[in-house]
Amino acid sequence: AKRLGRNNSQYFSENSNGVVTDGLEMVSSLRRAVENQEMLLHYQPKYDLRTGRMVGAEALIRWRHPKRGLVSPIEFIPMAEEAGLIGGIGEWVLQTACRQSRDWQNAGYPPISVAINVSPMQLERDDLVHQVATVLEQTGLAPELLEIEITESGMMRKVEHSMAVLQKLKNIGVRISIDDFGTGYSSLSHLKRLPLDTLKVDKSFVRNISSDHENHSIVKAIVLLAGSLKLKVVAEGVETEEEYKVLQNIGCDEMQGYFKGRPVPANCFAERHLDTGHL
Ligand code: C2E
Ligand code: CA
Ligand code: CA
Ligand code: CA
Repeated sequence: AKRLGRNNSQYFSENSNGVVTDGLEMVSSLRRAVENQEMLLHYQPKYDLRTGRMVGAEALIRWRHPKRGLVSPIEFIPMAEEAGLIGGIGEWVLQTACRQSRDWQNAGYPPISVAINVSPMQLERDDLVHQVATVLEQTGLAPELLEIEITESGMMRKVEHSMAVLQKLKNIGVRISIDDFGTGYSSLSHLKRLPLDTLKVDKSFVRNISSDHENHSIVKAIVLLAGSLKLKVVAEGVETEEEYKVLQNIGCDEMQGYFKGRPVPANCFAERHLDTGHL
């Protein structure tokens, strides 16, 4: 499917043959996708810009649709949110990513942090904290190795409620990141009050950072702001060595992007990015 539009709460999408199909069919197959084991996670590495070491992975969901092939989260996550399916999918992501991180450790690799994306709708439900606590207990993953990424606009939707949930997650020991930082609206007073660990600079600001002076200034300002708030800064969407070097010079902490590695299935991730020196 290439496009996805909305029309009176019915989804229509166009498949690769240009045939427009009723999105309701997609929703009904999405409903069974987790139990049919059609969901999978790809992992993308995050690198420390000072040491050059790989320090963590972000889990990114894909849907292997029996007829359409690999479907992007950009297409089905909004659909899952609308159809009330995000809770189940989100729980599967949480379980799978935590178990994977534990499996890597059990295989003898050094521990790395694993980040999952959490939809604002999951944050707004009351069982997220309990879910996270349960999965950490079941998998035995150290809480500080789990990072939860929520978009800026997602956190600001119901800011008082979000603040309370994030504080509870923080008390368990998990790390909290603002995703796509700079694209939403968050007042500095909220930024100060939220129990955050990390700002992830949106890739639109990283693009052409070596030649685009405005982007350069913006990222520099974010790095300074983060430094004074004692937050870590991760630049996403780093595609070139030039961008990598500029970010290093600016004093950004970590990077993520095609330059160091695309999102890949777990076995490829271990092969390419995990330190085999210990095995
Ligand atoms: P995001 O959280 O901002 O994830 C980063 C996106 O940028 C990913 O797209 C990743 O593949 C892509 N990316 C990474 N490096 C580069 C680069 O160097 N250049 C460019 N152009 N892109 C890069 P992806 O995997 O298609 O995910 C898209 C979005 O879908 C994510 O954006 C996130 O908002 C959402 N998403 C993905 N997985 C989940 C999930 O498990 N749950 C929820 N609720 N949302 C998810
Ligand atoms: Ca993310
Ligand atoms: Ca992002
Ligand atoms: Ca995004």
